[in-house]
Amino acid sequence: LMQLSIPLNFIGFVYREIRQGLTDIEQMFDLLEVQAEVVDCPGARELAIDKGAIVFKDVHFAYDPARPILKGISFEVPAGKTVAVVGPSGAGKSTLSRLLYRFYDVQQGSITIDGQDVRSLTQKSLRAAIGMVPQDTVLFNDTIAYNIRYGRTSASQAEVEAAADIAQIGTFIETLPEGYDAMVGERGLKLSGGEKQRVAIARTVLKSPPILILDEATSALDTRTEQEIQAALDIVSRNRTTLVIAHRLSTVIQADEIIVLKDGVIAERGTHGELIDRDGLYASMWSRQREATQAAEQLKKVQDED
Ligand code: ADP
Ligand code: MG
Repeated sequence: LMQLSIPLNFIGFVYREIRQGLTDIEQMFDLLEVQAEVVDCPGARELAIDKGAIVFKDVHFAYDPARPILKGISFEVPAGKTVAVVGPSGAGKSTLSRLLYRFYDVQQGSITIDGQDVRSLTQKSLRAAIGMVPQDTVLFNDTIAYNIRYGRTSASQAEVEAAADIAQIGTFIETLPEGYDAMVGERGLKLSGGEKQRVAIARTVLKSPPILILDEATSALDTRTEQEIQAALDIVSRNRTTLVIAHRLSTVIQADEIIVLKDGVIAERGTHGELIDRDGLYASMWSRQREATQAAEQLKKVQDED
């Protein structure tokens, strides 16, 4: 009996150790709500980042073979530039970002960073070079400081606070009774969508990656919050290769190129001015959004007068 119980205890011990080691990875996948679909290829290399130029070349992808989502997408994000992807909900915009971050692999074509196919790289080195501000940030059940420091675990408290300030959430955190030690997440303080997004931005500021993916929140943020977040994102994306998935067209006016995705293909592309002149899909999306914004402002004015 003695002989049996020792190994069992030992196995229990090893198991717990392994579990501890894995929690971070598990938590990460939980957070991102995706499965670990891809694995490093044999002999995968580290990404050698030069300037961070991204090329999507004839990219095809389907989650379900019966339903193609991307049907031959080609575009470039030149080093340090910003390319915006817009289009109807379900068009495959977020899918582009998931392929670049390599949650999934393309089924045809390629995605390269500085000439290196993302499939040939270690996921670790790829993800170290990319800062992702996702559409829906899920926070760890831990302190707000932990959630920000996750971007760079070696960061000092002063650096965490500076990042929070850039992301325009520092003032808010200081109003919390426990400040940076306040617990957030499912079992802590519930933050609004805009607050969570700013935590994700702070995390990214701290990480300071050469490449940025910004998937803007669809949730109707009020105009002021939207402007604050926009200001934070502008600071973060300066001089970084940025792929921005924009739901609010007001955020893409400055983009170096706008890609309009529809039915799995690029329907239109160009700068804001070029696309307005073209008077196509983008121009109609633009006028529709402007009308909606004006209507909302009008409504607010009427309410304020009451
Ligand atoms: P967008 O960001 O443009 O709104 P997505 O890229 O998120 O669109 O999704 C494109 C399409 O793929 C949608 O129809 C969506 O329902 C589908 N889709 C997204 N994720 C998955 C998934 N994990 N499994 C199956 N289908 C998915
Ligand atoms: Mg999306």
